[in-house]
Amino acid sequence: MIVTSLPIWITDMAGSILMIVFSFLCLNLARALKIRDPGNVIWTYLFWVCLGLACFAVSRSAGHILKQILVLLDRQSVWSAIRPYSGAVNSLMFVFVASVTLFFERTWKIYRQISNDKQELQTVRDELLFLNQNLEGLVSERTRELASSEHKYRRIFEVSRDIILVTRLDGEIINMNPAGCKLFGYNDQLESPERTSFANFFSESADWQEIQDLIECHGFVSNAEVSLKYGEDKKIRALVSGSRDESRSDREETVHFLIRDIEQRRLAEEQIAQADKLASIGQLSAGIAHEINNPLGIILGYTQLLIRNESPETEKFNDLKTIEKHVRSCKTIVEDLLNFARSSKPNEDVVRLDQAIDDVLNFIRQHAGLDDISVQTDYDPSIPNLMLDEKKIKQVFMNLIMNAKHAIGSQGTLRITTAPAPSDGDVAITVSDTGHGIEKKNLARIFDPFFTTKPTGEGTGLGLSVSYGIIKNHGGDILVESEVGKGTTFTILLPLVSSISRTTDGKVNSYRR
Ligand code: ADP
Repeated sequence: MIVTSLPIWITDMAGSILMIVFSFLCLNLARALKIRDPGNVIWTYLFWVCLGLACFAVSRSAGHILKQILVLLDRQSVWSAIRPYSGAVNSLMFVFVASVTLFFERTWKIYRQISNDKQELQTVRDELLFLNQNLEGLVSERTRELASSEHKYRRIFEVSRDIILVTRLDGEIINMNPAGCKLFGYNDQLESPERTSFANFFSESADWQEIQDLIECHGFVSNAEVSLKYGEDKKIRALVSGSRDESRSDREETVHFLIRDIEQRRLAEEQIAQADKLASIGQLSAGIAHEINNPLGIILGYTQLLIRNESPETEKFNDLKTIEKHVRSCKTIVEDLLNFARSSKPNEDVVRLDQAIDDVLNFIRQHAGLDDISVQTDYDPSIPNLMLDEKKIKQVFMNLIMNAKHAIGSQGTLRITTAPAPSDGDVAITVSDTGHGIEKKNLARIFDPFFTTKPTGEGTGLGLSVSYGIIKNHGGDILVESEVGKGTTFTILLPLVSSISRTTDGKVNSYRR
């Protein structure tokens, strides 16, 4: 029986051994693949299938080899006893391999799902990374833009000549630009306007109240003309514009003000108005003066003729002398008016200032008397001769000295000096007296034509306005300082180098440096 079944026996034994060897080789290969790529579920599946096959191969081949050995030893009864166990192990191994295969689909689906999710997560991560890098760039670009904009607006705030002010709704100052600090006298380091109320800078509390009402009602105020005070008793006119800042709901509401100093403009307007007034009075005066000048000349001529035929000390002689005196004084006024209207042409003379002043002083000493007045002169010898209209300049000195004499009254000091002016290229002539001085309210009016505080018959109010016109025509300036009870100082500034510009018809326009 052994001989007849030998080929089968050999085949079974060899097949069983080869089955074990091949199944273990497969298991080893699957294990190697699983170790190389542990995340790959296919290798895991293959490993488990190979493991099942290996177990199956061992169980089946071991069973067959054992069976052949027991048959050879003629112990079939033992084989019959353990045969069901071998079959059971084989069945279990089949069930195991089948289960692994059946569950593989489900595991594969989960694996695919996880792989897809991982892939999506990777994509999202890459996108996020890309966005993050871009966002960084975007944020840094925005930050740069913001910094440059902040710098730009800060510069506007700092260099603005207008005052820029940020306040709380109740007017408490939060921030004030350097122009404001300078005007209101805040030293950047030591003092700050913060926590002061803007209301404190208003000369009239009604102005502030009105601005607050407008901001409350409309949210803004535009070009409100107000008077602001600063320093010790100083005031300026200013245009105030402001608007409520409601842009930041997370912050306390503020009001942004822009304040423009219009004091200079107001002064310029006043000067223009004054110049207009002078020009129109000048035209009117010139017309009247021309009309009156001729009849006055005739009256004076005939009066002098009549005087010549009368013997002195007669009543008629005295009457004629009175007429002559008053006609002369009328002629002086008319000449003043003509001068004021600038109808007479100025000359170009080489004038030594100290000499001209001394001439005027001597003339006044002889004709009006300066006996009780101490006259002091201090001339700077370095002042060169100037190109001036001598007659007119002497008329200015005459007006100033006569006014000083009148202000001093019986006793006092008159001081006249010449010196180079602090401003380069000018000479300054001062005429100071220790007279009664000029009241503050009159200071701005003394150069107005016909303004006089002297009694009727003593003053015409033309002396200073004529003097002002003459000095301005020479390209100079005339200033006044006065204190009531202490005295007055007039300062004349004349250009050291002056020339006379002429129009084509040869008429003098103005003196300029
Ligand atoms: P008038 O001398 O005819 O009054 P002015 O134009 O010369 O005209 O002067 C105008 C006014 O200026 C004077 O009436 C006087 O009130 C004032 N004034 C001018 N000079 C002096 C001075 N030195 N001291 C005080 N007041 C002066």
